[in-house]
Amino acid sequence: MGTSKKVVLVTGVTGAQGGSVARHLLSRGRFTVRGLTRKPDSDKARALRDAGVEIVRGDLDDGASLREALSGVYGAYGVTNFWEHFAHEREQGRNLVDAVAQSGVEHFVFSTLPNVKKETNGELDVPHFDIKAELEDYARQRALPATFVHLAFYFENFTAFFPPQPQGDGTFAFGFPQGDTPLAGVGVEDVGGIVARIFEQRDSYLGETVYIAGDYRPAAEYAAIMSRVLGRKIVYNHIPRDTFAGFGFPGAADIAHMFDYYQRYMPNRRPDAERSRAIYPELQTFEQWLERHVQEFEPVLNPKAAVPA
Ligand code: NAP
Repeated sequence: MGTSKKVVLVTGVTGAQGGSVARHLLSRGRFTVRGLTRKPDSDKARALRDAGVEIVRGDLDDGASLREALSGVYGAYGVTNFWEHFAHEREQGRNLVDAVAQSGVEHFVFSTLPNVKKETNGELDVPHFDIKAELEDYARQRALPATFVHLAFYFENFTAFFPPQPQGDGTFAFGFPQGDTPLAGVGVEDVGGIVARIFEQRDSYLGETVYIAGDYRPAAEYAAIMSRVLGRKIVYNHIPRDTFAGFGFPGAADIAHMFDYYQRYMPNRRPDAERSRAIYPELQTFEQWLERHVQEFEPVLNPKAAVPA
């Protein structure tokens, strides 16, 4: 028993961030990984179990399940999902912080984001950021031994939320309210590479906020890289904030304001990208990431071919 590894609990383990953190922690081999899910019998949970994750059932709405999952752990990775729970994310995040505070966790790495309302003097309203910023404040007030990570725009969003759309003439376009300002992005699969090193070097990161970005370039350059790698003409179109906010899907105004915040209040993310790469030198640029994910763009670029015969 004396040689047993310390345990890190990963919340959101069946998701993009938590899955990345679990995979990198496993491959580094320094910690045992325990993963929290509401659905331990799902295919994703089974695959993680096969990969060596100890899967436990738990729910961010159920504090007792969180305390149980945290018993005996050294570290915890926290992530909350605004896009499933919207404003209820606040209560779920507080439940997690409370449970961490009541456990003997020595290092809590918490995925949060900047406080847009505060930084813009109330001009912009981005609830999926501001709730996470409140949760970061809440964890700081509780004086948890914590490190906070602020993730840039996932490259994966180019297949999920902002895929290139056919223009009817063989070309494709995507758009959002970013203008010409460089946009920081990251392959979410790389996030765990940084988080694993943060867990391994706790004392260097306690109390810090680490901004995670793998690349940093104008949206038109992302489009040019897509054109080159995917072999289609793909362009970026600026969509004015208020036009985007009026699109009507849940969260449209939130996302429109997020880009406006990126554009006008976070114009220089180069130091974030440089620091991220210093922590994890294998961090992929957009082009490197895209080369490895060409197939995921197939259904986007050939929608008819994707329909089963
Ligand atoms: P994801 O891939 O959609 O996965 C969501 C995870 O949350 C799943 O593992 C799910 O587990 C877990 N979960 C949801 N509700 C839960 C609950 N009540 N109790 C326990 N677990 C619960 O999400 P993700 O992308 O990793 O993370 C989402 C967050 O990332 C969002 O809040 C978003 O704001 C933030 N973010 C996104 C970006 C971006 O560019 N997209 C950038 C920065 C930050 P089960 O279903 O297995 O229980």
